[in-house]
Amino acid sequence: MGDSFPLQVDSATAVPLSLGRARFASIEQGIVLLAMQWVCAWHGCTKPGIELEVHHLRSYLDGGETSLDNLILLCREHHRCNNDRRDGAGGKGYFTKDSRTGAVRHHPARGGPARETATYHYRRAPGQRVHDPPLFEDSA
Ligand SMILES: [Zn+2]
Repeated sequence: MGDSFPLQVDSATAVPLSLGRARFASIEQGIVLLAMQWVCAWHGCTKPGIELEVHHLRSYLDGGETSLDNLILLCREHHRCNNDRRDGAGGKGYFTKDSRTGAVRHHPARGGPARETATYHYRRAPGQRVHDPPLFEDSA
């Protein structure tokens, strides 16, 4: 397979939205993430998009890709609450996203049930555009 990766593009603009093993998210990915989230993915956090950092759900160093399926936005404070090794070290948990529903969950360091923080999904069906995701779909 080498260095190849599936290229995901916006169907309207052909802007790449999946960068495979690129280390950092592109400006276009940041814009799409902002359009999906607006605020930090942490449950109840209302830090606005302009103050958020891009987080790889599966660590880049662990092979995680810089693609929308693997990225969320977190404020600096909550980005520090993540442990990429997922071993509970430092009392830090980690985040996951359900690829089917787009639900983002935080898994506490001490174990126990994951807490659903929000649902972010974008349209991927052929011919559909990336805009108009359900921004704050309530999971309750
Ligand atoms: Zn936050």
